[in-house]
Formats: sequence, structure tokens, C-alpha cells
Amino acid sequence: MTKLRLTEVTKTFGSGPTAVEVLRGVDLALTAGDALAVTGPSGSGKSTLLHIIGTLERPSSGRLEIDGEDPFALPERQRARFRNRVIGFVFQDHHLLPQYSALENVLLPTLAFPPRPPGAEDTARRLLSRVGLAHRLAHRPAELSGGERQRVAVARALINAPTVLLCDEPTGNLDHENAVAITDLLLELREESGTLLVVVTHSTEVAGRIGRQVTLAEGRCVEA
Ligand code: ADP
Ligand code: MG
Repeated sequence: MTKLRLTEVTKTFGSGPTAVEVLRGVDLALTAGDALAVTGPSGSGKSTLLHIIGTLERPSSGRLEIDGEDPFALPERQRARFRNRVIGFVFQDHHLLPQYSALENVLLPTLAFPPRPPGAEDTARRLLSRVGLAHRLAHRPAELSGGERQRVAVARALINAPTVLLCDEPTGNLDHENAVAITDLLLELREESGTLLVVVTHSTEVAGRIGRQVTLAEGRCVEA
């Protein structure tokens, strides 16, 4: 069972009089299958928190543990490999590469650390089919709707079978119907794969569907 724990995590950007203390001691514990919604006003540090959990941003102090391991204790190259294997990311603005097809975009994370795992293309097709895009494999992002692009981004986040799926306002650019559909899809996928799901959202409806909610306020995580 994947466990994720943050202990007294702080993050300050800059130093001296212009320093911005964004996180002032975040404690959080999650286990596999958990789904967590993180809410909070703009600028409260939601993305910063997600980037720390995703091992992209080093905390100023405190500790992140994923399955008992501190990813920030690893050398950078090994941490990148750890991230590639363990973490899936979905962003507000899909971040798909425009020149590649849906299938190629989903396969990209399998190229970072050769050799490519056997069966990667079958897995990508299966995932695209799972998110309802079996008929859109060869389409480029510009040829897809906003909801479809976000579905591709979800499939891409899952291609390496991550144990932690992190979503930063994944429905922020979608209309209500698509926002609900993507949220439900994330919850179903979490159920099927046992992944741990953290979703940053502005939407009270999205947060309500997810279940457990924390709010970032004054640099701390408060159970909602
Ligand atoms: P949220 O996602 O909740 O809107 P962020 O985590 O993006 O908030 O940002 C929180 C605060 O940290 C903001 O005031 C932002 O300007 C500041 N911040 C974020 N990243 C950086 C950075 N790389 N350098 C300096 N300040 C940053
Ligand atoms: Mg943000």
C-alpha cells in the first residue's frame, strides 16, 4: 500500500525582505486508494504543495515520504526516474505536445528512461480506450475538444502505472459537464488502479465529489 506523508513542510520563495512564505508547516498523510481535494484561494500555495508532492519542487524544510522513501534524498537523476515511475501529473492546461497524436502524447513518458517498457503501445491504446478515445488515437491536440484533450492528459499521466496521481485544477478550463465527467473518470481510475489521487480545485462541486477535502490557509493544511 502506497503511503504518502508530509511532515512540517515549509516553502519560502526568495529571501530577505522580499521572501514569500507560502507553506508554513503542512502535515498530511495519505494511503493508497485515498482521494483528496485541495482547495484554497488563488496564491495560497496549492500548486506549490502539489509540486512538492510531485518531487518537482524541494521543500525549504520538513519532509516528504512516499512509501517510506524521501525522494529529495535521491540524486537528481534518480529522483527524475522515481518521479517518472511513481508520479502522474495532470495540469489545468493539458500540456500535450501539439505536433504529436493522442497516442504519441500518451507514450511520451515511456521514452524518458529507455528501454521503453514492453507493451507500452498496447497499454497506451488500452488507456485511451478506457478514457473514451479509442476513435481518436491519431488526432492531434488541436483536433480534439477541451474535454478530450484532458482525457488524453489523464491517459498520459497513467501510462507508467503511477502510484500517485496529482491533478492541478484539471477541470479549470472545462465546462460544467466535462468537469464532472473528468472528475468521475479520475475517481473511477483511482478505484480501478488503487492509485492515490490528489486534486487541486477551485470548484466546490469537484471537491465535494472527491470526498476528503483540505483547505490551504495561511500556509497550513486544514481538514475541511
Ligand atoms: P495557488 O496554486 O494556490 O494559486 P501557488 O502555489 O501557485 O498558489 O503560489 C503561491 C504563492 O507563491 C504565490 O504568491 C506565488 O506568487 C508564489 N510563488 C509560486 N512559485 C514561485 C516561484 N517559483 N518564485 C517565487 N514565488 C513563487
Ligand atoms: Mg495553482
